[in-house]
Amino acid sequence: MKAIFLDRDGVIVDNSSHYYIFKTKDVKFVDGIIDNLSRLQKKEYQLFVVTNQGGISKKQYKKEDVEKVHDFIENEFKKHGVKIREFVYCPHHNSFENCFCRKPSSLLIEKLIAKHKIDRTKSFLIGDSIRDIEAANGAGIRGLLIPSNQDLSPIVSQIIP
Ligand SMILES: [Mg+2]
Ligand SMILES: [Zn+2]
Repeated sequence: MKAIFLDRDGVIVDNSSHYYIFKTKDVKFVDGIIDNLSRLQKKEYQLFVVTNQGGISKKQYKKEDVEKVHDFIENEFKKHGVKIREFVYCPHHNSFENCFCRKPSSLLIEKLIAKHKIDRTKSFLIGDSIRDIEAANGAGIRGLLIPSNQDLSPIVSQIIP
């Protein structure tokens, strides 16, 4: 199957006013996100979210907070028929502990590729940071770098000509 891997903050969730988003009340979706993800889904792309949540390591919030935010996003999207197949996150931060999963590592993406039998050649990652693109490259996926918190329409049109 083919997949779109999405970074979370700055791609799905607008992070222009909060560096860390860990309360559902702070979840503000990037303009057009539901429509853009619907377009991709209609072309049979499965959607995955891969996010660094180093604030957990920094003890700014807990895993449960991240999971609540993901449940919230999942449910809001579901209302519009958009299905996120899986949310995965790295809870670590390199100032506190080393890990193998924090982007630019490609590990989380590679695990999803193996688990869901994803065709790398037909899949893309959309991210707003160089480390997202590096993670995509490491996993053999095309990475598309976008400006933070902007409507994905131009990038979706690039994927679906
Ligand atoms: Mg980001
Ligand atoms: Zn990690």
